[in-house]
Amino acid sequence: MTDLSPAAEALRLLGPFPENWVPERPGIDHDVVVVGGGHTGAGFALALQRAGIRRFSIIDAATDEANSGVWLTRARMNLLRTPKNLPGPELGVQGLSFQAWYEEHKGRQAYAELLRIPRLDWAKYISWFRGRLGLSIRYDTRLLRIEPAADHLKLHLETGGERRIETTRKVILANGVAGSGYAYTPEALLALPETLRAHTNDQIDIASLRGKAVAVIGAAASAFDAAGAALEAGAREVHLFARRDHIASVPVSRARGYPGAYDNYPHLPDALRWRQALRFRNSGSTPTPDAVERAVKHPNFHIHLGTEWHEPQVENGRIAVALDQGRFHFDFAIAGTGFRVDLARRPELDDLAGDILLWRDRYVPPETEADEDLGAHPYLGLGHELQEKEPGRAPQLRNIHIYNPGGFVSFGVPVGDVPSMRRDIPAVTASISRDLFLADLDRHAERVTSAVAPEFGEDAYRSALWGTRWQAAE
Ligand SMILES: Cc1cc2nc3c(=O)[nH]c(=O)nc-3n(C[C@H](O)[C@H](O)[C@H](O)COP(=O)(O)OP(=O)(O)OC[C@H]3O[C@@H](n4cnc5c(N)ncnc54)[C@H](O)[C@@H]3O)c2cc1C
Repeated sequence: MTDLSPAAEALRLLGPFPENWVPERPGIDHDVVVVGGGHTGAGFALALQRAGIRRFSIIDAATDEANSGVWLTRARMNLLRTPKNLPGPELGVQGLSFQAWYEEHKGRQAYAELLRIPRLDWAKYISWFRGRLGLSIRYDTRLLRIEPAADHLKLHLETGGERRIETTRKVILANGVAGSGYAYTPEALLALPETLRAHTNDQIDIASLRGKAVAVIGAAASAFDAAGAALEAGAREVHLFARRDHIASVPVSRARGYPGAYDNYPHLPDALRWRQALRFRNSGSTPTPDAVERAVKHPNFHIHLGTEWHEPQVENGRIAVALDQGRFHFDFAIAGTGFRVDLARRPELDDLAGDILLWRDRYVPPETEADEDLGAHPYLGLGHELQEKEPGRAPQLRNIHIYNPGGFVSFGVPVGDVPSMRRDIPAVTASISRDLFLADLDRHAERVTSAVAPEFGEDAYRSALWGTRWQAAE
């Protein structure tokens, strides 16, 4: 019997992580740098250590843990959108799972009664998970640019206001939902002064919306979450504007939720992966039923379907917009209009963006399935590595692994979300391990075939040798 907590017991049974086996390269600071210390960064920390890749570093531009990731900053839902029982960063080590943590703190019954994971509990769990692994994340360290060099990557960093360069053999971009592009705000809203608008991805001072008339543009989960949060903060009225004539309610992605489809998705032919991604885009991202209920229960919440904003004006410091239903005035507008993938807009990839193979370079869909946004997604290899448009022009691309929604068309899930973790963190780790191993094949060949001292001599079995026993019996 043991009186260790389930997590400590899980780590005890797991035993020590293997020693680092990756030969050090003179002049190279790291074998792997993980950009982003959110839940993905935490998952990679466990996976890399278990794989014996110990010389890695996790950096995060945020000043500290509380300001990193989305859970305590830009996420406004009460409950995670994803089911509670999906494997997370614990990657099969049950004692480190959310369930184990929750049951330890609140009991089995409390977990059984959870509809989905409360957002704030998920943030606490991730923080606990980092602590359990003894992770040290280098906060206030922003990756500005990746410069390819002969056999490594030079990372231009800004840390504590100072610029510096560090070198690494591999980079994992676990840099969040906008990590392969940007938060998209429609042109009409961009024309408004920044004091009157925000994107759901901004850190909005929701309390300041008390008593205000608020417009929310968009009808997916983040839009409803922003509306719900504004209403709870005492907004006078909140109007949500959707271009579609309905609120999307069919979770298309569920179709690939069974293991065969999920595990093997990256091996599907391009045409099928494209069609699936398109179906998802066309059906729209769905808010959760509780997010809809949270907003709708307020009588001062109004939904406008089939409505698009054109040329809003500023009148007496407020937003004025003419719509089919009349002229409306708002104190603040929030764009809940999601994210776009466009690698050319990522400063980190300035040196390389033109050489990256995109879906549009690789696959030409039938005319009826054409889609510019999907075409802008990188066409990733099975280890999430970037690939070259023209072989030989930018060989270092294969050392940059994309772990953000830029992987959506290639992998069929929004990469970075909890549902991606079970399959994709091990896949990326395995591919990094393989590349690092094969790059030093001679040294490993020598190591695995080198002479090893015998553990016992002939004395240990001489007495049982056939001739010996027979002679003794004579
Ligand atoms: C509002 C909202 C709600 C969501 N709800 C869910 C949900 O319920 N379930 C779910 O599975 N997913 C959800 N997601 C998706 C969610 O973003 C991911 O699941 C999760 O945050 C991804 O974790 P991550 O560690 O990959 O990225 P993040 O948590 O976004 O962390 C990325 C980190 O990278 C750092 N970073 C970015 N650029 C740089 C740089 N250049 N240099 C250094 N550091 C950098 C950032 O500071 C940040 O801390 C939601 C997303 C949003 C925006």
